[in-house]
Amino acid sequence: MEVRTRFAPSPTGSMHVGNARTAIFNWLFARHHNGKFILRIEDTDLERSTRENEEKLIEDLKWLKIDWDEEPVRQSDRTKIYEEYALRLVKEKKAFFCFCTDEVLSSKREKMMAEKKAPHYDGSCSRLSDQEIEENLKKGVPYSIRFKVDQKDIIFQDLIKGEVNIKAGMFGDFVLIRSNKMPVYNFSVVVDDALMKITHVIRAEEHLSNTARQIILYQALGFPVPFFAHTALILADDGSKLSKRHGATSVEEYRKKGYLSDGLFNYLSILGWTPPEEGKDKLSRKELIQFFDTDRVAKSPAKFDLSKLNWLNGEYIKEIPFEELRPVLLSLMGQNYDLFFYNQDEIEKILLLGARSLSYLSQIIKEVELFFISPENISKPLSLDEWKQEPHTALVKRFYEEVSKAETLNEEFFGTLLKNLGKELGAKGKNLFMPIRLFATGQEHGPDLNTVLTLLGKNKILKIIEQCLSF
Ligand code: GLU
Repeated sequence: MEVRTRFAPSPTGSMHVGNARTAIFNWLFARHHNGKFILRIEDTDLERSTRENEEKLIEDLKWLKIDWDEEPVRQSDRTKIYEEYALRLVKEKKAFFCFCTDEVLSSKREKMMAEKKAPHYDGSCSRLSDQEIEENLKKGVPYSIRFKVDQKDIIFQDLIKGEVNIKAGMFGDFVLIRSNKMPVYNFSVVVDDALMKITHVIRAEEHLSNTARQIILYQALGFPVPFFAHTALILADDGSKLSKRHGATSVEEYRKKGYLSDGLFNYLSILGWTPPEEGKDKLSRKELIQFFDTDRVAKSPAKFDLSKLNWLNGEYIKEIPFEELRPVLLSLMGQNYDLFFYNQDEIEKILLLGARSLSYLSQIIKEVELFFISPENISKPLSLDEWKQEPHTALVKRFYEEVSKAETLNEEFFGTLLKNLGKELGAKGKNLFMPIRLFATGQEHGPDLNTVLTLLGKNKILKIIEQCLSF
């Protein structure tokens, strides 16, 4: 059997990282089994689907280096096919024309809810006589096509979850084709997966109840049922489902922040899937393809761990030759700051300092901020109050005096000055360096102090000290 998987996004917005993970799992599974990976655009929700979103989706997939076999398929081009299959079901009395208007349906729904019953279709149109149907059709009464549900438990073996049992009575006769001729997701997905000979459907567990409907449709249409693998949710740090309020959730946002394709791909691959070698989370695409299978995909939800993604992405950044990074980082700096105040040599030094350990490329902006913002805009360091007392302030004041008098400020000058002040005031180690770093740069941590001070130059240092003493 040739393994065939698919990614079937709806182009209704930017690609969520959860969707990207679904694409990655399907892609890895197909590549692992030497099978085919198909792309299908599920754009039957005419109001929410746009070509622009479709293009963005494709751009994101290409950026993630996920390639697909065969021509991508767009569902809106296939409405005739779905209608044909729905009519076949009508002919076989497995589906029926439903002439109920939206108003009738919602008043019935409200009535059931008032009677504390789970709302479901009451089957009225399934009882229409052939003659009544004929007349309605002749009169051009708009209709949808509904599937006649034979109420029974649906049991299937999920490749991740094991046996899944969905009790009868969870849903009533459901629509296959809407009155606007558009198929509903559960119907088009079955027709397409069957016609495209999809063997494995890997998708998020929120589709489990859809899977139940889909299985009965496969059976009604006489199609073989594919294997299903439902992945658990992706949670944020606070244990709730990962959403916008937790920060960046789309591939586009990560791409724009300067995460690398390989870094994000690797991270999403191991989000809910455990590689076989313990502790080895950084894996090349070749290794991921070699090892990935559904048997090591977790049954329980995976936590989206930003610090792990940052670490992993940072590892990939380290592998890029600095020559390649330089223009990108320089342009990020240029877009955000006026580089005019420094000469070529200084810019190069600032760049090197900022690029020491980046988790994502746009982090450079924050890393070099000190060199470009004006001292009045420096915010109060968290631990300032702790250090704003004697003998530390005396040291800072002496440093200020010496710097104001000095003519040439370079690394050597600062090295000697700190040594001398240390001796003069009996300050050593942290008690010597911390007050100077904190008051002269406004930062608690940073790269080599003498280099930073040299780059900042006399005026800025003095102004930052004045600012910090005034907090
Ligand atoms: N268009 C559906 C979605 O984006 C596809 C679900 C599936 O994989 O069947 O959620």
